[in-house]
Amino acid sequence: MTIDVLSLATAGVRGLTPYVPGKPVEALERELGVTNAIKLASNENPLGPSPKALAAIQNALPEIARYPDGGGFALKHALASKLKVAPEQITLGNGSSDVIEFAARIFVAPGDEVVFSQHAFAMYPILTQAIGGRAVEVAARDWGHDLDAMAQAVSDKARLVFVTNPSNPTGTWSDRASLRRFLERIPPRVIVVLDEAYFEYVENPDYPDGILLLRDFPNLIVARTFSKVYGLAGLRVGYSISSHAMADLLNRIRPPFNVNSLAQAAAQAALNDDEHLRRTRQLNHVGMQQLTDGFRRLDLAFIPSVGNFICVEVGDAARINDALLHQGVIVRPIASYGMPRHLRVTIGLPEENSRFLAALKTVLGR
Ligand SMILES: *Cc1c(COP(=O)(O)O)cnc(C)c1O
Repeated sequence: MTIDVLSLATAGVRGLTPYVPGKPVEALERELGVTNAIKLASNENPLGPSPKALAAIQNALPEIARYPDGGGFALKHALASKLKVAPEQITLGNGSSDVIEFAARIFVAPGDEVVFSQHAFAMYPILTQAIGGRAVEVAARDWGHDLDAMAQAVSDKARLVFVTNPSNPTGTWSDRASLRRFLERIPPRVIVVLDEAYFEYVENPDYPDGILLLRDFPNLIVARTFSKVYGLAGLRVGYSISSHAMADLLNRIRPPFNVNSLAQAAAQAALNDDEHLRRTRQLNHVGMQQLTDGFRRLDLAFIPSVGNFICVEVGDAARINDALLHQGVIVRPIASYGMPRHLRVTIGLPEENSRFLAALKTVLGR
């Protein structure tokens, strides 16, 4: 007997298109037979993890027969002291996307509205659809969040707003004054998830620290991750900072062992490797300059970015992407984000950036 399992799924899930991640190097090498491929597609740290994180994993290995600490005591205390918050304000996630999902599942019932920006992180519409929420996508301004329009779009039916600062894939950001003005306009019954996955990369003094806004806005959840600047994407560890009451709620639906023991140990060690963080930021700074210089030489428009990635306008991006893959260069096509003329490129090592620029030049015939 066969059954049509699709027809048994909830309406939201039936209509879902899965998230498309960056192509792994091995997949490209297998599919196209190229060797020496480079991947600049998933905003990973090109320096890799902190050596201290690797040592911590080695140390923790003999204990993997045991369940991890479900409460994440040591990691939460390390985060709390670094961020100057109470450990009770922290919720650990299997990546920050885990915590973001908790928020959506807690506050959004079928038919409720979820507000987010055009060109924002693909997980927001996917999550909204999966739980039967109604997506309210607000037109971007200069590729970035139009916070005034987003506040205006919050209706009586809205339960949740996603704000990404800086945003992915555009690399655009909102300054302190605009963000505060926005939060003041959001009714306290509407939850705001402030996704700061790239927080540690931003150097501008007008860039706001979401944690400092928690005191004035109890409806706020700030999400951060070890996947980006800390170079631990493969381990899956992120967290949120919120009020105690909000964290209690998030912890109610958190699976008890969602962050494994190696991830907890590595994250704690990475958090205190200031030298690795400094080198990562420095490399990003230089690489961003290298890419934007290269784009100017190739006469290509780009969206100024404060993250560890940048969007460049190449014309028919699907075709250019395909040609780049044949050159062994993996970047991210973002047509599904409403940007069919752009490619998103992660800042890599200097030699990776050069290889990408050379391949792009060849492919464009310039
Ligand atoms: C990478 C990213 C995340 C988090 O990813 P995790 O690996 O799940 O921590 C969240 N939001 C945005 C916008 C991102 O780019």
